Amino acid sequence: MIPTPPRPPIFGETLESLTATLAAWSEPAFRAKQIMDWLYKKRAVAWDDMSNLPKALRARLAEHFDIAPARCVLVKDASDVTDKLLLELHDRSLVETVVIRAPQEGVGQEHSRKTICISTQVGCAYGCRFCASGLAGWKRDLSAGEIVAQLIQVCLREDATTPRAREELASFDNIVVMGMGEPLANYDNLLRALAIANAPWGLGFGARRVTISTSGLVPEIKRLADERLGFRLAISLHGATNEVREQIMPINRKYPLEQLVPAARYFAERHGRMITLEYILIEEVNDSLEQADHLAAIAGELHAHVNAIPYNTVEGLPWKRPSITRQNAFVDALRQRGISVTIRREKGHDIAAACGQLRLKVEKDGKIEPAPARARALVASTAP
Ligand code: SAH
Ligand code: SF4
Repeated sequence: MIPTPPRPPIFGETLESLTATLAAWSEPAFRAKQIMDWLYKKRAVAWDDMSNLPKALRARLAEHFDIAPARCVLVKDASDVTDKLLLELHDRSLVETVVIRAPQEGVGQEHSRKTICISTQVGCAYGCRFCASGLAGWKRDLSAGEIVAQLIQVCLREDATTPRAREELASFDNIVVMGMGEPLANYDNLLRALAIANAPWGLGFGARRVTISTSGLVPEIKRLADERLGFRLAISLHGATNEVREQIMPINRKYPLEQLVPAARYFAERHGRMITLEYILIEEVNDSLEQADHLAAIAGELHAHVNAIPYNTVEGLPWKRPSITRQNAFVDALRQRGISVTIRREKGHDIAAACGQLRLKVEKDGKIEPAPARARALVASTAP
């Protein structure tokens, strides 16, 4: 039997592309806007929900487009601040999407600030030595529709689970592209997805509330800077000299610091905004005071904020998180040099930073089909 080719996800369509498809079907242009309204403003989950579309059109749309490209097969509530969703795609690939809640003083849980951490690839080709996402290599890029579908999945789940005083749809405050994969290696699909998230007919989500994290793809950082789209940039530095950085990040051989730092400066100058340097603290690898000194010099030159992240241990990898004393000494050394630095200690943030681990565990230990409960049990057995 010849397998049916997958239908493209409807969430990868722009108003323009959908209008063109409908025109080719001799449908009036206003139908495209109606469909977008159903998807993004009313959160339809099935074509038949779209009651103001003719039945024949609904059938044709169903034949051509996938309205459910990502199925949520597992949710791990890592703590009261983080939920990790494991999504299954049409080819059974698994990706992770994380919701991080930052409760706000004096208001209930439903008013906490919500950040969604999205994935851009299945696996990752860059092979950073400390990272679970890169362990099994790169499998494929996510399509724009699969990236948008992650946001939709989170919203649908929030709609269903969050108690709300009024009949309003769930939304979120920030998007961080820090999940599985290297976002700038899937540049076109990522930008198309973010354009859909940004569009008034889409999620209407402001570019300045989106942060893209990269391991340092120099040409793409410059390209993104030139597009001046307003997204924020975070660079995964993790080593403040070439010698230390290339031990843990193979990409540093291709784009060493003498190329990466000027590219980051170019981005900051074009945008007039502070960039963030992500720095995982790994014991005896990159957490010496000498590295702190070099890091302070780079951050000072770039006027960048440093986000220090205590390493989250990955099963099968030798790296360790430094003691609190060592973490504090590192951070204090940066502060003494006048660098703006935060250290992420909350459990939820650790889990978000270590995207890729849930998928790795589930794929290694067993298939999730047919019973998601099996995966749930597997993950529960490894819960911290
Ligand atoms: N590929 C991109 C984005 C995904 S990784 C990048 O590398 O920036 C998102 C962040 O999580 C990166 O800063 C990455 O270095 C960090 N990370 C990966 N594994 C981690 C771990 N085990 N503990 C803490 N942070 C980790
Ligand atoms: Fe890929 Fe980022 Fe993990 Fe490196 S840290 S392997 S670039 S996902």
